[in-house]
Amino acid sequence: MSEPTKETQKIEPVVVIKKRCKSCKDCVYVCPAGVLSMAVDVHSISGLMISVDYPESCIGCNLCENACPDIALFVADKSKYQFCKITKEAKERQAKILANDCLSLPKEGEKNEKA
Ligand code: SF4
Ligand code: SF4
Repeated sequence: MSEPTKETQKIEPVVVIKKRCKSCKDCVYVCPAGVLSMAVDVHSISGLMISVDYPESCIGCNLCENACPDIALFVADKSKYQFCKITKEAKERQAKILANDCLSLPKEGEKNEKA
């Protein structure tokens, strides 16, 4: 991945409209790069909410946007954001997220490391 320009740095690769999310997890299942997961959210009816945990790993495949039944996810236009290529680390993280029932993995340095 080449370094993003000042212009592309301002744009997020994936944007979520949380009030539309019904926590179905469909986007988490289809993401190949371990970008998305479900975070605990006491304000959500299900107790979970979509979370874009690793935006830097997004490859811009649009699978999440296409999978979301509630039009809650938007992937940046390729002309406006420089997406990276998928890495072995990203694939392994995705496998861990799925094995964790789509729940967010603890970040490095957090307690109760499961990853
Ligand atoms: S665009 Fe692809 S890689 Fe990026 S979050 Fe969506 S499914 Fe994952
Ligand atoms: S697919 Fe849409 S509604 Fe389902 S968890 Fe993802 S953002 Fe939420």
